[in-house]
Amino acid sequence: MHLQLDQARSGPLRWSDAIGVAAADLRRNEALVPGTVDCEGSLTFTGPDFLLQTRLRYRHRLRCDRCLTPYEEDVDLPLAFVVTAGDADGPATADGEGDPHGARELEPEDLSTLVAVDGAIDLFRLVREQVELNVPMKPTCDPACRGLCPQCGVDRNREACTCSGERVDPRWAGLEAVRERLAGSLTG
Ligand SMILES: [Zn+2]
Ligand SMILES: [Zn+2]
Repeated sequence: MHLQLDQARSGPLRWSDAIGVAAADLRRNEALVPGTVDCEGSLTFTGPDFLLQTRLRYRHRLRCDRCLTPYEEDVDLPLAFVVTAGDADGPATADGEGDPHGARELEPEDLSTLVAVDGAIDLFRLVREQVELNVPMKPTCDPACRGLCPQCGVDRNREACTCSGERVDPRWAGLEAVRERLAGSLTG
């Protein structure tokens, strides 16, 4: 779906759509989006630019950075952009210098700028990019996730292990290996 800027010149344009995004569409395709992204929003002419406000709702699948378990999460993502017509209608506004009479509730520096190509906004592309940007760098299944034991590798959310839990000083790690080898040769 494409939003035509001209359709918002006479009054705010409201729209809603369900956009299918497949894993293959994403560069970070560990974040599968099963099904569709529900999006709705409005496009308002603020002169000379437009204000695009939208809200994306979908479910994404992530892998916990601590315990490596896949989990799913509902996303409800409000977004706003200043949209400039990318054609030769006039000079594009300088970065961060929004119309002081438009969008009072939003600080111009908070808004990303979107350039409309041929007077239209490609919603599929916008949604796909936002879904990608919204993949956390270090996803965690739960803020209290205890992760894997760095020594024996068990998932500490599910079972306790007998490791001391004390971090081995890396300067002693070599000695530790020697000790284990000696212990192995004595028993074996
Ligand atoms: Zn976890
Ligand atoms: Zn352990």
